[in-house]
Amino acid sequence: MKKFTLAILIVAVLGVLSTQDFSPKQPAPVNVDANAELHAHTAEFHKEVIKVTEGVYVAVGYGLANSILLEGDDGVVIVDTMESNETARAVKADFAKITQKPIKALVFTHNHTDHIFGSGVFAEGGSPKVFAHKSTNYYIDRVVNVIRPAIYTRAMRQFGSYLPPGGRINDGIGPFLAKVDGENALSLARPTDTFDKVLKTEVAGIKMELYHAPGETADQLFVWLPEKKVLLPGDNFYKAFPNLYAIRGTAYRDVLEWAKSLDMMRELEPEFLVPSHTRPLVGKEKILGILTDYRDAIQFVHDQTVRGINMDLGPDEIVERVKLPRLRTH
Ligand SMILES: [Zn+2]
Repeated sequence: MKKFTLAILIVAVLGVLSTQDFSPKQPAPVNVDANAELHAHTAEFHKEVIKVTEGVYVAVGYGLANSILLEGDDGVVIVDTMESNETARAVKADFAKITQKPIKALVFTHNHTDHIFGSGVFAEGGSPKVFAHKSTNYYIDRVVNVIRPAIYTRAMRQFGSYLPPGGRINDGIGPFLAKVDGENALSLARPTDTFDKVLKTEVAGIKMELYHAPGETADQLFVWLPEKKVLLPGDNFYKAFPNLYAIRGTAYRDVLEWAKSLDMMRELEPEFLVPSHTRPLVGKEKILGILTDYRDAIQFVHDQTVRGINMDLGPDEIVERVKLPRLRTH
């Protein structure tokens, strides 16, 4: 009985095999990586200090944001200072391999954690000026003294910091947000030199123009180096769709102001664009095209959303209907 059963089984298996051999070929299972584009985007955060042009360097991939080194005659300026002392120390050490000139000034492009909380490390052993918009101190205080526990937890959630190892691919605007709990994890050099609309100054022989440019935050500024045609747009431009609203729950972002700020940048016709997230771009035409697309995308989403509201559609319906048109290729 057992042998019979075995024979039946063998015949059945062979039968299945032979049937399979002559049946139409099934398409081979395709190993689709649903996150392929996001994986490819990780290359944007390859950790290195990039020389953009003479005297302009940017540290990419050390933390969520970039830090930018401007080298002058007898000193340097650091634009954005990382999110923690640890990441700031790593950047500072690598900048010191380029030049040992003293740090004469820091610039905060805005108040967000990932741009300011390594500033004490860069200020150590000196007394650099700290440039920022006049409202930046207010926003720093609001986060640090009023809503920090809530916003910290939400940010960690938004940036995937609680995911198990391997669960996070990248954070879109950076590789990761460093965890910053513990003693001496953060430091802050308070703004010393603030302004309202425009500040034109010179530090260590570097001519710098700071423009208030509300967008991702209300206190956002961009830095323009007129002699080198270098633009540092802060977080009003990065190689990711603009975070018109942060899912962690932050204050309203005025998207029309954001579009206007991009127009201000376009008018300057920069030849180098060094954002505070993702890698720098070179070439006047290329930069103009990309800034224009970015600006138009923001305006389009705003206009079509308002159109949907006027048609009495709800948020879920508007989300389904607003689709960006094809953009030019660069
Ligand atoms: Zn940022």
